[in-house]
Amino acid sequence: MTDAVVVGSGPNGLAAAMVLSGAGLSVAVVESNDTLGGGARTKEATLPGYLHDICSAVHPSIMLSPYFNAFDLASRGVEMLQPEVPYAQPMDGGRAGIAHRDLERTADGLGRDGRAWTSLMRPLVDGWRELGDTFLSDMRTFPYARRAATLPVSVAAGLRVLEQGSPLWNLRWREDLAPALLSGVATHAIAPARGLAPAGAAVFLASLAHSVGWPIPRGGTQVVVDAQVDELRRRGVTFTTGHRVRSLGELPRTRAVLLDTSPKDMQQIAGDLLPRWYRRLLSTYRHGDGVCKVDFALSGPVPWANEDCRRAGTLHVGGTRRELLEFELGVKRGEHSDRPYVLAVQPDVVDPTRAPAGGHTLWTYTHVPNGSTLDRSEAITDQIERFAPGFRDLVLHRAVATAAQEEAEHPNYVGGDISGGAVTPWQMIARPVPTWDPYRTPVPGLYLCSSSTPPGPAVHGMNGVHAARRVLRQRFGIRQEPLDFVRSAAA
Ligand SMILES: Cc1cc2nc3c(=O)[nH]c(=O)nc-3n(C[C@H](O)[C@H](O)[C@H](O)COP(=O)(O)OP(=O)(O)OC[C@H]3O[C@@H](n4cnc5c(N)ncnc54)[C@H](O)[C@@H]3O)c2cc1C
Repeated sequence: MTDAVVVGSGPNGLAAAMVLSGAGLSVAVVESNDTLGGGARTKEATLPGYLHDICSAVHPSIMLSPYFNAFDLASRGVEMLQPEVPYAQPMDGGRAGIAHRDLERTADGLGRDGRAWTSLMRPLVDGWRELGDTFLSDMRTFPYARRAATLPVSVAAGLRVLEQGSPLWNLRWREDLAPALLSGVATHAIAPARGLAPAGAAVFLASLAHSVGWPIPRGGTQVVVDAQVDELRRRGVTFTTGHRVRSLGELPRTRAVLLDTSPKDMQQIAGDLLPRWYRRLLSTYRHGDGVCKVDFALSGPVPWANEDCRRAGTLHVGGTRRELLEFELGVKRGEHSDRPYVLAVQPDVVDPTRAPAGGHTLWTYTHVPNGSTLDRSEAITDQIERFAPGFRDLVLHRAVATAAQEEAEHPNYVGGDISGGAVTPWQMIARPVPTWDPYRTPVPGLYLCSSSTPPGPAVHGMNGVHAARRVLRQRFGIRQEPLDFVRSAAA
């Protein structure tokens, strides 16, 4: 009998498998795709030799993650490359808000708002470890060291979220660059920027640019997966690909099943075993709006009108704070605007391995209503052209995945919702149900470990670690700190 079966090989499935195998358990991983890694894969999506991250591309969360710090990617040959400019917000007229690694240098470029930017960010930059402990916790306990120091940083973060997520959000700003720069980050939450969840994303992610950075792995995000899979195979973990699990009966006999799946797939897999009260709770769980992803193969670097944007790893393209807000409100109303917010990543600023000599890649997506079947590549191209005249002429090839196609290729991204559930303050805690142990289901031995559990989306593996902690305790009576089982794997 296999001790544990993990369904899904995304970052959280792999992290769970790492903890469990480190504890000496036999583990099997079953994956629906033909390749391993879920939202952390890289492939030639456009032309031969052009490598594209088909989902995640930029990784402050890896740098912050207790799991990845214990796993120690560097010792396994994974290089996290830091762009000189972590992120930028191009504006009309060749102007831009530029976030540098250095906080003071960033403030220097923000005119009369420089000091306001520094005061917003400083406590969070200084307390990045504690901030990470909070944001990457199971939202119920704070198991990772530094408990006492966590409180002041959490309070500082909370106050800033309340300010930037409320009608007071423009009080501290006098010009347009700094608020646009912040809203560009807030809009990662796929919601109108003037809300608590986007404000949380904004202060958290923006501050990380000045501490751990927004790095890009050399060779593509797949290298992060490959390093883990190598280690898991070394520990005897087995992998089956190309098998979409639809019922528990398809799995080998085991004492624990961990689902790195959507709650929707979980319901199908568990079937009638889930009691009605639990199904009723799950039925209140909401998915957010979706993304339309467009990868470009280019014959040259993007000719941003602003020189500093040419050195940025990530760009939030869409103009002013007001424009970004209007765009997201439109998505919420079910609209597809011709002037979209575009999240763009140019890995080539640090990683020459992504394209053949002379070639370049550009990773982009925009937000669309959940389930949208519209191809937004023209609107994305036009919006980039607005801030980078001549861009269109460089396009050799575009690969498009509409929101509906995102779900077809990645079952967890229901309707193209890449966060595994709408990012709202309530759903960040009650994910996917408002229970004390959201990983454990009422079916004995069945657990959920995907980004539809706390602490939510991004590549950090902590949902998998939190779920595996429960499995070890509840199914195998092992109470040791789960990260010890990851650390013991360090090369
Ligand atoms: C376009 C896009 C851009 C993103 N950008 C970033 C970024 O830059 N940085 C960042 O940190 N995060 C980013 N994310 C989010 C990040 O990729 C996810 O939060 C993360 O991958 C979630 O990990 P997971 O293990 O929970 O799920 P996933 O990575 O989705 O993995 C789940 C796995 O389970 C498999 N599976 C699901 N159901 C079944 C089933 N029934 N049977 C068998 N297998 C199944 C899936 O095929 C998949 O391989 C992005 C996501 C997308 C889609």
